[in-house]
Amino acid sequence: MNTGRRSRILMIYTGGTIGMIENPDSHALEPYDFEHLLDNVPKLKMLRFDIDSIQFEHPLDSSSMNPTHWGEIAKVISDNYDRYDGFVVLHGTDTMAYSASALSFMLENLAKPVIITGSQLPIGEVRTDGEENLITALQIAAARDSEGNPVVQEVAILFENYLWRGNRATKHSADNFNAFKSNNFPQLAKIGLGITFNREALWRPLKDREFKVHYNMDTNVMYIDLFPGISEHTVRHLLSTPDVKGVVLKTFGAGNGPTDKWFINAIKEAVARGVVIVNITQCSNGSVHPLRYVTGLELAQAGVVSGHDLTSEAAIAKLMFLFGLGLSTDDVKRYMEYSLCGEMST
Ligand code: ASP
Repeated sequence: MNTGRRSRILMIYTGGTIGMIENPDSHALEPYDFEHLLDNVPKLKMLRFDIDSIQFEHPLDSSSMNPTHWGEIAKVISDNYDRYDGFVVLHGTDTMAYSASALSFMLENLAKPVIITGSQLPIGEVRTDGEENLITALQIAAARDSEGNPVVQEVAILFENYLWRGNRATKHSADNFNAFKSNNFPQLAKIGLGITFNREALWRPLKDREFKVHYNMDTNVMYIDLFPGISEHTVRHLLSTPDVKGVVLKTFGAGNGPTDKWFINAIKEAVARGVVIVNITQCSNGSVHPLRYVTGLELAQAGVVSGHDLTSEAAIAKLMFLFGLGLSTDDVKRYMEYSLCGEMST
């Protein structure tokens, strides 16, 4: 039943270009406070729902974000979960896809919208994209269906013309207003004259599951990005990084790597030491198909797990999350091949 009650939205300002101003001496953009941001969007008062806001004590350029900050965002959402119908997180674009991926795992059984947005130009600039992004994000966070349920029940990124699933999105342009893209999953909504939701693509959590927040993210993870000519010394050195538990291996094409004996042996030895190695493709679109070529098959036989079509951001965040839960190596491997909240197509 739609109760007709006004939606209540909580805005969480973490920093990013949207709220930045130019330093008068260096002319570089730096984070500024939230009041400044609100002063620049008087139209907020025209929205017919209640908006409260909260800001990070020290707003950040998102390049300085780390799992502690993700935990702070998650805590604000958890503390206010019952009081609000939806959440809008204002965040820098640089690491937005990492935060969106991490939050999608940390906020288990989320059944309310967490819409992350930001902008390419500061909100105080005449041609800013920030005002439109902020207003659209708020409207999406407040949207309810005819039964009164939130239309979006997941972590999503709203940017310019599209709403993307958070753990499927990637920043693909440092210059365009349409800065985000999801290469392996359709948009959740298209923004034009109106907001058109793609109902089939929207995530639906299992009913009656308790909302639970996980704060522990284990940072003993890393990427290894293959290139033709990568040396044995480099590969062995990286795989023996102290305390490393999980490696996202970025491979060629459908999940292929060199078949040199030393390479396969180095991988096998790391797997035998308990390191979880996840295979994702360097291609921006498509999936790992470990059985298609012998070069992929050998990796699979060496104990490398397929990351299917995970984005690189979701792959690293998922490893941090699973190790943060304290799972065994075998369980981490198992869950890496299984979709927890729509992050991969399996
Ligand atoms: N460097 C900025 C940040 O990620 C870029 C942006 O917000 O667009 O915080």
